[in-house]
Amino acid sequence: MDFSLSRDEELFRESIRSFLSKRLSPIWESIDENHLIPTELIRDFGSQGLLGIPIPEEYGGQGGSFTLSVIAAEEVAYHDPSMATAVYTLLNNAWPYILYMYGSEDVKGEILPAVSSGRGFFGIASTEPQGGSDVGAFKTSAVKEGDKYKVYGEKLYVSGVREAMEQLDLGGWLLIARTGTMDERHRGLSTFALIGKRNGMRVENLKYSLLNTIGRHGISTAILTLEGVEVPRSHLVGSEGRGFYIAMEGFNIARPMVAAANIGAARWALEEAIKWSKERVLFDRPISSFQGVSFPLAEISVEIEATRLLIYKAAWLADRIYVKKEPGLKPADLAYYAAAAKMKAVETAFKTFELAMRTLGGISYVKETGLHRGLLGMLSYMVGAEGAHNVMKYITARELIGKDYVK
Ligand SMILES: Cc1cc2nc3c(=O)[nH]c(=O)nc-3n(C[C@H](O)[C@H](O)[C@H](O)COP(=O)(O)OP(=O)(O)OC[C@H]3O[C@@H](n4cnc5c(N)ncnc54)[C@H](O)[C@@H]3O)c2cc1C
Repeated sequence: MDFSLSRDEELFRESIRSFLSKRLSPIWESIDENHLIPTELIRDFGSQGLLGIPIPEEYGGQGGSFTLSVIAAEEVAYHDPSMATAVYTLLNNAWPYILYMYGSEDVKGEILPAVSSGRGFFGIASTEPQGGSDVGAFKTSAVKEGDKYKVYGEKLYVSGVREAMEQLDLGGWLLIARTGTMDERHRGLSTFALIGKRNGMRVENLKYSLLNTIGRHGISTAILTLEGVEVPRSHLVGSEGRGFYIAMEGFNIARPMVAAANIGAARWALEEAIKWSKERVLFDRPISSFQGVSFPLAEISVEIEATRLLIYKAAWLADRIYVKKEPGLKPADLAYYAAAAKMKAVETAFKTFELAMRTLGGISYVKETGLHRGLLGMLSYMVGAEGAHNVMKYITARELIGKDYVK
């Protein structure tokens, strides 16, 4: 048992902390205010080794690990608690990995180096208007025509659409679409590397409209409408009918990073609350001297620490499965820890922001403190992003009790 990071992991954390405190902290509020992550910042994230972390170097990635990806997500969210850049970072560490695992050489060669260098974006297009949690009922269809598929349907709340379609040279998503019948439910689904834009040119028959979200404005959320988008056969990821399982594996990989981002933002909020509790003097003493103020701060710090241990355990397990390829472990073994980490981290982050706002009192309701930006950013994960909260509970219950006993 060893609770410390390795020397290389410590060095990575130190180097990105130094980079993020100079490049991200000073502009995080303007990113939220201007609804834009500057393109040169995305490029710098690539040069700093923050994107494509677990992708092997031969595919242009950083040749790192899931532990490093989790460190990156936590640190980026700490320096931008609105979550926008953390979401950008974690999407481009998790979903390209699925291409590395199951994509054709064409797809890997085109997308992975672009994502890792900050010239391209690759996210997930799963959710449909009739409900994101019921994946087996998805209707978007991919109809085979010769050496390509034509895709028809609608994907909702897709992150990174403006970045993919307007900002960067290349953009795309892991698309879940039906190649079988509706009766086949989740067994009729397949995954594709859907490219929305390449070499600066948008693909035909793919429309989008940006949604007016309440938070994490720096990264866009949009509706994608596919009106016969042509996807080459080589862009099928895995084989037909395996899409549900491949996408679920992607969510398992992404969730520890999502959890780490929530904890990074929570750590920032706690520090803001502690700072204020020492500076704010009432009844001739700092309010931190009142146990009614200090005890909740102590309690939430313990929750953050416990949650972080759960997250790092999930990342450690992911490394054993994917990086070290330890015999006896399989991808599905990650499901419990990935869902548990996300469930716990979202709850802890929400409680931390609420406590931070109560600790600051009235001033927290004034926009200058920035706490509202963090609260609204993390709420995206409370209401659904990367899987609804009840779905996290369902997965942990299913893994705990057994799938024959939990519906
Ligand atoms: C800001 C943001 C960004 C997002 N980015 C992306 C993205 O990039 N790509 C993408 O594909 N999707 C994205 N999503 C969508 C997200 O994945 C969905 O919100 C999520 O899967 C839930 O789907 P839904 O919102 O349709 O809720 P529904 O599935 O309709 O669920 C509604 C409620 O019912 C509950 N519920 C559902 N099933 C059960 C059950 N079996 N038992 C008990 N309770 C249940 C849920 O917990 C929830 O409370 C994003 C969402 C947000 C808010």
